[in-house]
Amino acid sequence: MIYDHIVIRYGEISTKGRNRKGFIDKLKRNIKRALRNFERVHVEADRDRMYVLLNGEDHKAVASILKGIFGIQNFSPAMKAERDIEAVKDAALLYVSDLNGIATFKINTRRSDKDYPYSTDEMNHILGGHILQNMDGIKVDVKNPDLTLRVEIRKEAIFLSGEIIPGAGGLPIGNSGKAMLMLSGGIDSPVAGYLSMKRGLDLECVHFHSPPFTSERSKQKVLDLCSKLAEVSGRITLHIVPFTEIQKLIQKQIPENYTMTSTRRLMLRVADRIRENQNALAIVTGESLGQVASQTLESMYAINEATNTPVLRPLITMDKLDIMKIAEDIDTLEISNRPYEDCCTVFTPANPKTKPKREKVNYYESFVNFDELVEEAVYGIETVTIYPGQTEIDQEDSLDLF
Ligand code: ATP
Ligand code: MG
Repeated sequence: MIYDHIVIRYGEISTKGRNRKGFIDKLKRNIKRALRNFERVHVEADRDRMYVLLNGEDHKAVASILKGIFGIQNFSPAMKAERDIEAVKDAALLYVSDLNGIATFKINTRRSDKDYPYSTDEMNHILGGHILQNMDGIKVDVKNPDLTLRVEIRKEAIFLSGEIIPGAGGLPIGNSGKAMLMLSGGIDSPVAGYLSMKRGLDLECVHFHSPPFTSERSKQKVLDLCSKLAEVSGRITLHIVPFTEIQKLIQKQIPENYTMTSTRRLMLRVADRIRENQNALAIVTGESLGQVASQTLESMYAINEATNTPVLRPLITMDKLDIMKIAEDIDTLEISNRPYEDCCTVFTPANPKTKPKREKVNYYESFVNFDELVEEAVYGIETVTIYPGQTEIDQEDSLDLF
């Protein structure tokens, strides 16, 4: 164990002077949450950097978690050495020999303490020479080294850092406010959720469930997907909406080729009511232009009438293969690919309108009063909090909000 802290460099924040404090506070909170199982870890923040003090915790385990946290540009495991030259020589050697696959290096010394007895050039030579003498198969390359070992001489100690590990980029979750993700069991919506979290959104999920037409198995998929998303955010709140009665009424009252349009409109209405109760400001969906009948521009125009809340569609311009690639990277593809009945597929008509008209859907819906059923659906939601790795609903966790 040679590292005693990890230096974290922020991402896009540098362009946003005024929001800096909010950004740093959110990032610090998220890092502390993600590292809560490392009891000895301590996190400190300043304007330009964050420091994770390891206090003996394993830097590799901590680093693997840091890699997934949005708002981090990159980070470097670092070590602190005494100012004594022999101590720095040992530290530098230890640092380089601990890294695998380093064939070339250079030392880059900086002095904020100008009283230190060696100049930066002298330090570069002393430390470089010491490493060359004590390690086989390694050379100095000042132009394009595998490792630039930064040695920072300060009054209190000397700090060594080198390896720069890329972070996940994006903005810290919560920095952009809260939105409701409409989460089905399909491939797209979890990816839409991941990308919006990357942009700093705090998400709660809404899932429409239509028992007995959709089974426990399809609900389980959604729980598993939430559990995956929770790995990114620390935890996920999921609202499961009983949607059967609404779907039955649609089936009964709306002409078949418009049932899908109406179903979507009602989903959006219910999701929007839950959003209001949860103080969120947007709804996120996994829609991608032209992918299916409900995702033509005409359909979106007819469906979106149900609300004037912003509906964010992170995947709107993406091809299915690119979406699948992300789903694979974030480990949701395998879950989404499991067979299941979605409440929409069960009721999908043979020929859904690909170009529904607003006037028509309004006309058909004008004969039906959905208000009460919408309220009942909102009232009947089951709300659970899912943590990373959790695959079952903990009954104590399941609570009625209204
Ligand atoms: P996905 O892969 O996300 O299911 P999809 O390509 O199957 O998307 P649709 O079935 O038309 O497309 O759904 C479009 C969007 O509507 C979904 O991405 C999701 O945001 C929302 N949605 C669909 N079904 C449900 C559901 N049962 N519960 C919650 N949201 C849903
Ligand atoms: Mg779907």
